[in-house]
Amino acid sequence: MIMNGKELSLKIKENLKKEVEKLDPKPSLVVIQVGEDPASSIYVNSKAKLAREIGYEFEHAKFDENVSEEELIQKIEYINSSDSINGVIVQLPIPKHLDANKIINKINPTKDIDGLTELNAGKLLTSKASLVSCTPKGIITLLKEYNVPFEGKHVVIVGRSNLVGKPLIGLCLNENATVTVCHSKTKDLAKVTKKADILIVAVGKAKLITADYVRKGAVVVDVGINRVDGKLYGDVDFESVSKKAKLITPVPGGVGPMTTISLMENVLVSYNEMKKRR
Ligand code: NAD
Repeated sequence: MIMNGKELSLKIKENLKKEVEKLDPKPSLVVIQVGEDPASSIYVNSKAKLAREIGYEFEHAKFDENVSEEELIQKIEYINSSDSINGVIVQLPIPKHLDANKIINKINPTKDIDGLTELNAGKLLTSKASLVSCTPKGIITLLKEYNVPFEGKHVVIVGRSNLVGKPLIGLCLNENATVTVCHSKTKDLAKVTKKADILIVAVGKAKLITADYVRKGAVVVDVGINRVDGKLYGDVDFESVSKKAKLITPVPGGVGPMTTISLMENVLVSYNEMKKRR
């Protein structure tokens, strides 16, 4: 059976819309984009459309690809000090002359709706984060919607990026799962992944995970987005694995829409926390 992220994201969107209707002033977010990377432009435009449909104020802050670190940091500091802006993200990747880690860590953690500052990433491991990285947050929301139990289950995560794999460790531990993390240096990957009750794959290699890597009846979450000859593929070979898995996410229509809607949920988290502090 398929875990339909698109459908769930639309349901969450409708709930957010209803909540936002009641709010004055409206929650507001800024997306900072540097340069003209076509994939980034697509992602920013879809965030802008969704944010506006929900009823948020949205600013697309676009900078030339040669922008200096100082200029970007100045913009972030302005956003940090603004009473009317609740959240900000820096659309990644950014050009190589800029230190992405340094820039992201200039964001006030209370406005860090991508959950990527070191403070928020660290808080996740001590179970206190309110702003959680969007892809991992969306994955947990989706699994819960399909009543997938975590407690005592073995979650195997393939990929250890700061964006996906590492925050998932904290989130799955908080749900009382037993967690194993695999990466590019893991030996005999299939031997480990076959032990998973829940297998989450975030690598970036089309169809890396075939049926031989999956235990019958496992729950499989495919985070990968790989463009091959103009077509989108996940990291999981959907055709063979879907016959063996109990539940599986498709690409597209699985984790992708859950990521964007989780960002929108984080805007409201940040808005409500700012209100409490006033
Ligand atoms: P990344 O490149 O930062 O990390 C990839 C990870 O995979 C690394 O930890 C590496 O050790 C591991 N890896 C590489 N080769 C491996 C192998 N052969 N076996 C086991 N592990 C291996 O990637 P990321 O940012 O985590 O993204 C991973 C994929 O997920 C990409 O395709 C990306 O486009 C996609 N993604 C999708 C969403 C979404 O919303 N659906 C969000 C973020 C990332």
